Amino acid sequence: MAYDTKLLGTSEPDIAYAAKLIADGKVVGIPTETVYGLAADAENEEAVRKIFEAKGRPQDNPLIVHLADVSQLEYYVHDIPNIAYKLAEKFCPGPLTMVLPKRSIIPDITSAGLDTVGIRIPYHPAARRIIAESGKVLAAPSANLSGSPSPTTAMHVMNDMKGRIPAIVDGGSCPVGVESTVISFENGKIRLLRPGFISADELSEFAEVICDRHITEAAVDGEQVRSPGMKYKHYSPKANVTIISGSGDKFIEYVNSHGGNGVYAMPFDDDAEKCRIPCIPYGNTPEEQAAKLFAVLREFDDIGAKQVYARCPSVNGVGLAVYNRLLRAAGFEVIAL
Ligand code: AMP
Ligand code: MG
Repeated sequence: MAYDTKLLGTSEPDIAYAAKLIADGKVVGIPTETVYGLAADAENEEAVRKIFEAKGRPQDNPLIVHLADVSQLEYYVHDIPNIAYKLAEKFCPGPLTMVLPKRSIIPDITSAGLDTVGIRIPYHPAARRIIAESGKVLAAPSANLSGSPSPTTAMHVMNDMKGRIPAIVDGGSCPVGVESTVISFENGKIRLLRPGFISADELSEFAEVICDRHITEAAVDGEQVRSPGMKYKHYSPKANVTIISGSGDKFIEYVNSHGGNGVYAMPFDDDAEKCRIPCIPYGNTPEEQAAKLFAVLREFDDIGAKQVYARCPSVNGVGLAVYNRLLRAAGFEVIAL
């Protein structure tokens, strides 16, 4: 169905309108602190099916369910380990997704047939108001077309979803800029499945953290992975992206000798003025880089870049999430200098 996609704000009538659409089984683009989400009633199979259709998402890639607060946990999941409650006390609401055994109230389509489901409680005020007003819990993957960089502004969502969904709520730029930290629990340990703003270091105050190998290593065809998203090439701009690791000086030397038609550099802000080829810098600190990464990848698409040389980020704190997304954008192509 082709929609005349409405751009809504965060006024009371606009939030009420968005919440009504969701209560009626429709899909709405909503802001969260991580990235924009494509939200629908997580308990409504037909509504969830529309999310997969709008995104062109493979049916075996599960959706995260967004709750209003921790008191709802036991209604949707069971066998919740004690550390999950402790983590929830510290990090929820916030950008943390916990994978837990699901109850049958969550339809199989939402969890892509798995017997577990990822649960998150977002802190973004607009997301919270939409959850509260709709009276629903929301299945919400990132609001991009499957495979393209995640959206961090309402305009990014409009570019991908125009005509595919009835409305988008514009809540400004997403403050974190990369998707939530995804974890599961095994024998009293935490397994990091997807790095995000909440880092392995912060989690390790609660239990030993195992960083899944596929955070930094490509899965080979047919290989079993613990989190379906690890199988897919994600976040890819149209350009070929290559990560250059090494010092800032080596990076500059490399890009300045590899210029050409459609070739761009993606340096840290501090290196930008030394680039003698066209460039779009993506911040200096891991937090700035997380907030800017996807917008910068989309800008390279807009200007028709063919080759992008990105300086390898630090992997400290949220930097590991930036590195993980950039690796996927680059198809794991790294040149070490
Ligand atoms: P997105 O909705 O685009 O943020 O992607 C959600 C990602 O979270 C998926 O691609 C999975 O990798 C991960 N995820 C969600 N639910 C589960 C689950 N039940 N088990 C393992 N990983 C999950
Ligand atoms: Mg996504």
